[in-house]
Amino acid sequence: MPTIIIKSLTIAACFIFILTPSVFAEETVHVYSSRIDQLIKPVFDAFTVKTGIKVKYTTAKEAELIERLKAEGKFTQADVLITVDAGNLWLAQNEGLLQPVSSKLLDHNVPFSLKEKQNHWFGLSIRARTIVYHNKRVKPSELSSYEALGEAKWKGRLCLRTSKKVYNKSLVAMMIESLGEPKTEKVIRSWIDNQPEIYSNDTSLLKAIVAGKCDVGIVNTYYLGRILKEDPDFPVSLFWANQDSSGVHVNISGAGVIKFAKRKENALKLIEFLSGTEAQNLFSDDNLEYPANPNIPPSPLLVKWWGKNFKKDSTNLSAAGKNQKRAVMLMNRVGYK
Ligand code: FE
Repeated sequence: MPTIIIKSLTIAACFIFILTPSVFAEETVHVYSSRIDQLIKPVFDAFTVKTGIKVKYTTAKEAELIERLKAEGKFTQADVLITVDAGNLWLAQNEGLLQPVSSKLLDHNVPFSLKEKQNHWFGLSIRARTIVYHNKRVKPSELSSYEALGEAKWKGRLCLRTSKKVYNKSLVAMMIESLGEPKTEKVIRSWIDNQPEIYSNDTSLLKAIVAGKCDVGIVNTYYLGRILKEDPDFPVSLFWANQDSSGVHVNISGAGVIKFAKRKENALKLIEFLSGTEAQNLFSDDNLEYPANPNIPPSPLLVKWWGKNFKKDSTNLSAAGKNQKRAVMLMNRVGYK
């Protein structure tokens, strides 16, 4: 090879060598997340190690993030919104804050029921909301479905979380989708006829069962998981609801690309990464949620406690947002506080 070419190649190589780190250092993606630092940071760090793309993020309550995105409009620096509950993701979409994206990998990793039909958002982890009961005072054979919690035998024995929480709005919204509104109203009215104690959060509800305030309730499974991790003898068990019918109600944590994202490609790369093995395992191990990606087994602890083959409601979760207003009005109508 002529000397001049070798020299040029050497200079070019040096140039690339000098340039490369700074080019990578400028690759970023900005996230607004309602999921807490402790949960998302390990996943973001793993993404940076794999891709060289740095993740800058802001955490706040979902309502605050949505207001902020509305105010910032096209000047926003955010590329990705991460939040819990399909109801919240649907709200962000409805406010015009998200854009549809297409990704073969996400189509493969995220089941249809866990994403928005036009790909405005994707489920990243599954949060099952099911029945819990006191080990000594209730036999699992007495339980079957959400609907059956309205039976007279549960009068004065039922605890519910407040209807103000989005988890319950979404549960009822999904019931409206599968049962229709009149039948759903009958079910929720039968719960209220049983004079349930109402709690502000799932953890206090679980403790109320132990304290004898009630015998059964409905919670997100990871709250029971967190307690069991600390206290394996906690005398409350989980029952997978509606296994002979619709399947247990599942919701998600999920993500969407911001409409005015400045780094759309990186945003998509991040969401794709979050749907893959490494991130899915972190979600399941750290927060005791179920992987959204059906090819990835849940954390061994979850399998030990509750097995891995439970029937999940496969109705598309967009209905949690679409029917949310009707759900709220219905709960008000029947006096569910
Ligand atoms: Fe929660």
